[in-house]
Amino acid sequence: MRKGQPTARDRLREFLREHPNPCAAYTGREVGDAIGVSRERVRQLFGGKYNKQAEDRRKQDSLVALFVRYRPEAQVPKSLGGMSYRQIAEELGLAEHQVLCSWRRLGLVPHGELFHPTRLASDRAWRAKILRIERCIVCGRRFPWTQQRELNRRRHGCRIVCGISCGKKAGPKGVAT
Ligand SMILES: [Zn+2]
Repeated sequence: MRKGQPTARDRLREFLREHPNPCAAYTGREVGDAIGVSRERVRQLFGGKYNKQAEDRRKQDSLVALFVRYRPEAQVPKSLGGMSYRQIAEELGLAEHQVLCSWRRLGLVPHGELFHPTRLASDRAWRAKILRIERCIVCGRRFPWTQQRELNRRRHGCRIVCGISCGKKAGPKGVAT
């Protein structure tokens, strides 16, 4: 057991055990309130630059979070019809590494991990997702248009047909299954 009053540094250490990345979530004042010291003391304890970093990161994170919300394709790699980190960075006026850091802090799935073995199940679910109901250009039947069919259309120019037999009637590149 610890003897006497814990110092501010002790309390900060305790706080950091539960909040390993405080700059992403808390202002200096909030950390100060939690451990009973001033914002300035928090800044000192962090080596004199807590607030600046935290503010920059928060701004960056909220920019990236907003972008992803309104441009869902940003979460898909460019090779699959989405966007590269560089493109996202250019549109936001950030550096590519800043986008990557925010990406991690926000818990978004890194583009490179989309096909990682542990991601295969969610990848399958993603491909099976029904985007809309389409009408077959050959037989006129309505059928679910999945993410996978959309990928095939974008990558290979496949046309909107319900299956292999209609695909054959539509000619080469007709099948989008
Ligand atoms: Zn058909």
